[in-house]
Amino acid sequence: MEKIKAVALMSGGLDSMLAAKVMEKIGIEVMGINFYTGFCITEQRRRVDGSKSAASKKKLENAALKSAAEIEIPVEIVDISKQYLEMVTKPKHGYGSNVNPCIDCRIHMLREAHKYMQKIGAKFIVTGEVVGQRPMSQHKNTMRMIEKEAGVAGLVLRPLSAKLLEPTLPETSGWVNRDELYDIGGRGRNPQMRLARELGIEVFPNPGGGCCFLTDQTYAERFFDLMRHRVEKTLTMEDVVRLRLGRHFRIKESHKIIIGRNEAENDLIEKYSDEKMAIVKATVEKGPVSLIEGEFGEDDIRLAASLTAGYGKAKALAEVEFDVTSGGKTRSISVKPVDPQAYSEYLIQHRP
Ligand code: SF4
Repeated sequence: MEKIKAVALMSGGLDSMLAAKVMEKIGIEVMGINFYTGFCITEQRRRVDGSKSAASKKKLENAALKSAAEIEIPVEIVDISKQYLEMVTKPKHGYGSNVNPCIDCRIHMLREAHKYMQKIGAKFIVTGEVVGQRPMSQHKNTMRMIEKEAGVAGLVLRPLSAKLLEPTLPETSGWVNRDELYDIGGRGRNPQMRLARELGIEVFPNPGGGCCFLTDQTYAERFFDLMRHRVEKTLTMEDVVRLRLGRHFRIKESHKIIIGRNEAENDLIEKYSDEKMAIVKATVEKGPVSLIEGEFGEDDIRLAASLTAGYGKAKALAEVEFDVTSGGKTRSISVKPVDPQAYSEYLIQHRP
């Protein structure tokens, strides 16, 4: 007899691994799906780090692929980053505590999972969600609303918390026996660790480690600062990358200065700039690099250069030479370093 097929959302975390494994154990054919949103910490590390040591290579592995391999299920990666740019700037259901539009995000992922489910002839969707684990999207009523808006009401089985929730179509149809599901709820991790041991899962990511940097407080500060200063409230993938890079100073309302913190960031600052911006680059080998974004004049360029010179080895020099590239032209200037501490109030960052 042909097995019943289900699509399991794989985030790379332990809960989604457990949910998929429970399904597999009870005889469901599981196809994993992972969404590439463009806001994944690992992806940014890959850009910045690139990378060098075996340890950092390990950090850069795709967590979803790794977790699916550990429980031996196939996984498809779906790129939804374009749709995400719009969702992050105008979330219908608002933000969580930072710039994380978790409700819109879950709706979007379930819609996409539904399309994939229909495409491969699967009968339902499986997630590793646990009731009450996250403040925003994992309350029972919110889960119901999310499902309804995604057009998948009754089709989402959450094996870890199923016994705390209304029976779903897979249970009422007899494809899945409710008695073989769980009643895990809340923020504790012990039941999941126990279940992992029972299911023979030995390798899994740190349970506390999230992948999405939209929950980062400093990222949120920088994002909202950008939106306040931008007439068209739109976001590009280049913005997304720049918002994670370097130190951001807004000394004047008209522009922002981003200063690289290391060689990799300096390279990325250049790579993710455009002609309307200015790249301010010390001419000494491996010297610091900054970028000016917005409307700026000669004094602003000189101040950006002085501040940039205030970091790293260049700060010990009396004068530092910089190449300034803007509008496709490059010229040289020399400036005295200034102590960045004097401008710390202009740093865009989370202040507890
Ligand atoms: S934390 Fe990020 S990936 Fe997770 S639901 Fe929220 S917005 Fe989506």
